[in-house]
Amino acid sequence: MKHRFFGGIHPKYNKEMSTKSVTLPVIAPKQVVIPMQQHIGIPCTPLVKVGDRVLRGQKIGDGEGLCVPVHASVSGRVTAIESRPHPTLGSVPAVVIENDFQDEAVWMPIPETPEQILHTIREAGIVGMGGAAFPGDVKALSAMGKVDTLIANACECEPYITADDALLRTSPEQVLKGMQILARLLQPEKIVLAVEDNKVFAIAKIRSVLENYPEITLRILPTRYPQGAEKQLIQAVTGREVLPGKLPVSVGCAVFNVSTFAAISRAVLRGFPLTQRIVTVSGEAISQPQNFSVRIGTSFRDLIEIAGGLNEKTERVICGGPMMGVAQSDLSAPVVKATNSVLCLLKDQNGAAENPVCLRCGKCVSVCPMRLQPLYLYRYVNAGRLEELERLHILDCMECGSCAFTCPGKLPLVERFRKGKKMLKEAKAK
Ligand code: SF4
Ligand code: SF4
Repeated sequence: MKHRFFGGIHPKYNKEMSTKSVTLPVIAPKQVVIPMQQHIGIPCTPLVKVGDRVLRGQKIGDGEGLCVPVHASVSGRVTAIESRPHPTLGSVPAVVIENDFQDEAVWMPIPETPEQILHTIREAGIVGMGGAAFPGDVKALSAMGKVDTLIANACECEPYITADDALLRTSPEQVLKGMQILARLLQPEKIVLAVEDNKVFAIAKIRSVLENYPEITLRILPTRYPQGAEKQLIQAVTGREVLPGKLPVSVGCAVFNVSTFAAISRAVLRGFPLTQRIVTVSGEAISQPQNFSVRIGTSFRDLIEIAGGLNEKTERVICGGPMMGVAQSDLSAPVVKATNSVLCLLKDQNGAAENPVCLRCGKCVSVCPMRLQPLYLYRYVNAGRLEELERLHILDCMECGSCAFTCPGKLPLVERFRKGKKMLKEAKAK
């Protein structure tokens, strides 16, 4: 039976820019900067000191509680432990490593039992790689025995980004094997790989090996933004609606990104910690848009140079996509585990008008996938009416930008909603 999620839009996807090349060059620069916080939760404490020699895959930071370790992504010498720019968190403590280009590595033991597999997922530093960066072992543990459907998210619905597409084109079996591993832990009745219908070559690659994985179903969904958001994907695949404030497990589902499944497969079957990921470097302002297999800690500047450099008229460099990404002010920020794209644009495509006016057309309401009322939220943020913002569930806004994209008045909706959510959270904390 076909389902669809409420709302959504059809932006220009521009994905063909970065999919012309079929190769995935490996990027291991002279220096990597490994932030001690690359996940939701408690930051890591460094386990090394300046002057230490480290090997690729060696644990260099770890902590207690909601925390997963970070690893050296190259072999070399630790030259600094200090605060450095982070693409989404401002500045955070980081371990700086000079690459000796020996690529000497340490690997983890191969696990056998479900408990050992869960432990390996943690020790490999695996987090949600679609952007959420939630510790993978904690998410898996919270879903064990509670879900009937396990979904692999290959929608990648943001314009320009093709990192998951490149993964499926080059290594579909890594993803499928990772799905088998998690299914062994979660014991779901259904295992679904969900992909949007604009990824024609990736779909062909999956189909070419799918007969070896009879327990996995391929679901091809009509392309629509923001289908890759967890709640929207669950609705599109199962018809179940996750209520505000609830988690996917409340409707018997667990969703992991395909890159996360591939990382699980590499860790569990080959003993590789998470030290590398695929990153799309794209946008009109970059000379040679392409996907790269990038060592964690590579600076955006290094990556951009390898992709041919920036056009002098570049207006914005974004970590992530044009809809939900974070604008960068310092290109020394490094690729972290959740970085799927570095996007370089000639102009801000969702820029607000100088004198924005609400025309009360209601288009924003019809596209909001969370069934919110953006025009009223905008008005109440400007008026500082916190009780109204709470009544209209502003905290459910996932900042997808569908409303701003469709707004003919060019109101700075998402920017105001971020401000409104912050105001409300601060007031609640008091
Ligand atoms: S789409 Fe823009 S102009 Fe139309 S009602 Fe919403 S905020 Fe107002
Ligand atoms: S940004 Fe928020 S209010 Fe706007 S469409 Fe997305 S969820 Fe709805």
